[in-house]
Amino acid sequence: MNIGIVGGGIVGVNTGLVLAEAGHKVSIISRDPIRKTTSWAAAAMCYPVNVEETQRCRDWFKVSLAHMQRLFEVEESGVRQIEWRKCTRFDSFDAPFWLHCVDDWQLLQGDECPQGYKSGLQATLYAMHVDTYFPWMVGQFEAAGGSVTYAELGALSDIADNFDLVVNCTGVFAKDIANDHIIKPARGQVVVIKNPGITECITSFDEPFYVYPRGEQCVLGGSFEVGKWSMSVDDDITDAILNRAAEFDERLKDPEILDVRVGLRPIRAEVRLERDALGDGTPLIHNYGHGGAGYTLSWGCAEQVSSLVPRQP
Ligand SMILES: Cc1cc2nc3c(=O)[nH]c(=O)nc-3n(C[C@H](O)[C@H](O)[C@H](O)COP(=O)(O)OP(=O)(O)OC[C@H]3O[C@@H](n4cnc5c(N)ncnc54)[C@H](O)[C@@H]3O)c2cc1C
Repeated sequence: MNIGIVGGGIVGVNTGLVLAEAGHKVSIISRDPIRKTTSWAAAAMCYPVNVEETQRCRDWFKVSLAHMQRLFEVEESGVRQIEWRKCTRFDSFDAPFWLHCVDDWQLLQGDECPQGYKSGLQATLYAMHVDTYFPWMVGQFEAAGGSVTYAELGALSDIADNFDLVVNCTGVFAKDIANDHIIKPARGQVVVIKNPGITECITSFDEPFYVYPRGEQCVLGGSFEVGKWSMSVDDDITDAILNRAAEFDERLKDPEILDVRVGLRPIRAEVRLERDALGDGTPLIHNYGHGGAGYTLSWGCAEQVSSLVPRQP
């Protein structure tokens, strides 16, 4: 089929790759270049947060994990493994709903936790280095025959005449283009610094704080501001992130700042992944609303989209 995907974030690109590899002619239409998308701001750890806690979400995660395992062997992909710890200042915490999807997790208590924390979890997880992985995925999509063009659509139906099927991967901007009244942004800001030698990831159950080393960079997070649409950097948030990180680890004092990134997590009670149709009857599939887990779920969701593509134009 001749398929048009609206949205060139990680969800649109991964969906495009899976559809192009299935033999379809796929064009992505994106308003923004990749560095202006929410996907560019992500930490891109592979585990689902701020998204529906359901069995289908676990299933998408498991599909993505299988792809991570495969891509871990492909050095240029930017997929790596990382020692991850998530801790709390309290004696207990709610175990994440996805925990049993990964093999080697362990409980941490007392001295086993980083300083300042009382209990938590440790696991070896996959992570994607956004600066490598996202452009590499675009390259894989193009190598499979896909194309990307840049244009802002006023409505999904603008491209109905050009394609047999339209796929909506517009993230939080589905609010306008799909009249979605449920979706809302959770603005996130991260500071990317030169890595002063950190090798393990730490994140907190208590607040949106993380230190996530990715090679020569270290990503310091973060923020989670529900309902805020601004994509501009907030200097007060940058200062708060830097102060919190310096308190946690002396090596993070006075870092060399490489970048400050902002994204809008598309928060929705449920990921919208379903068939629909445009006014003229052109088939439409929605694939958006992945919250804080777009990288984590994108392979699983892309494969589900592929299974929903009608057999005949
Ligand atoms: C600080 C932060 C940390 C995060 N950490 C993680 C993490 O560790 N792991 C994880 O899995 N996820 C993480 N996320 C979440 C993840 O980034 C998102 O779930 C994901 O990027 C959503 O991707 P998307 O492709 O749906 O949306 P986007 O990246 O927002 O892309 C939307 C696309 O739609 C296009 N578009 C919108 N409207 C139009 C229009 N009218 N016409 C044409 N094009 C249009 C845009 O130009 C863009 O190309 C994080 C997010 C943030 C902000």
